[in-house]
Amino acid sequence: MRIILLGPPGAGKGTQAKSISNKFSIPHISTGDIFRKNISEKTPLGIEAKRHIDKGHLVPDKLTIDIIKDRLDNEDCVNGFLLDGYPRTVNQGEALKTLLDEKDIHLDTALLIKVPREFILDRMTGRRVCLACGASYHIAFNPSKVDGKCDLCGSDLVQRADDTEVTVNERIDIYEAQTQPLIKYYGDKNLLSEVDGTQEINSVFDSICSILAEIKNDKH
Ligand code: ADP
Ligand code: AMP
Repeated sequence: MRIILLGPPGAGKGTQAKSISNKFSIPHISTGDIFRKNISEKTPLGIEAKRHIDKGHLVPDKLTIDIIKDRLDNEDCVNGFLLDGYPRTVNQGEALKTLLDEKDIHLDTALLIKVPREFILDRMTGRRVCLACGASYHIAFNPSKVDGKCDLCGSDLVQRADDTEVTVNERIDIYEAQTQPLIKYYGDKNLLSEVDGTQEINSVFDSICSILAEIKNDKH
């Protein structure tokens, strides 16, 4: 399947993406994870991206689109992919459409994880992530089994530099201004599906599986 995850920062996109990617055997492609890897390796891309990410701003479209272009050319994307955190602007959505049209392939759905603003601050300030494999935890809502260590790969968990209260509010404002228009964009193309992201993590996943099963059935 070819899926986009939409939703505000902290909606649970990364958390659900890990499970969806396992269940459907499709690669989980997170532009945020790609940027963080480049930041930790101090590559030119990482140095440039960090200037924007630390302020809670979006990385410029040109850089981000080029990354996705490269990544979707990878062999592991031939049978599908799950995009998490891309597109974040209508311009990025248009660029994705052009890329997919060139390959003569189509999206199955843009799945919106709906979470109201008042849930987000707690989720993001309590988030802890594994920089090695991208897994996401929460100190209260989804703690790792061993404090400070990733359940999946055993690496150290850290708090993201952009998960402070000030940056989180900036990111939500930017989401509302620049990313939310994608909801109408995909709605107009009849590609939008929605899930209630305020449920607990396993229930959100069950709801997502039902939605994806229906979409798969409709195709056959
Ligand atoms: P996103 O990728 O959309 O920014 P994450 O998947 O990293 O969001 O989730 C943000 C934080 O909220 C993490 O700490 C995660 O463990 C927690 N979280 C995710 N889904 C839920 C949920 N349904 N209920 C409570 N906490 C959640
Ligand atoms: P995320 O891990 O999805 O929360 O992304 C972390 C940060 O990386 C965002 O706040 C942005 O600064 C940047 N970023 C990730 N994906 C994109 C994108 N598609 N376009 C622009 N910036 C992005």
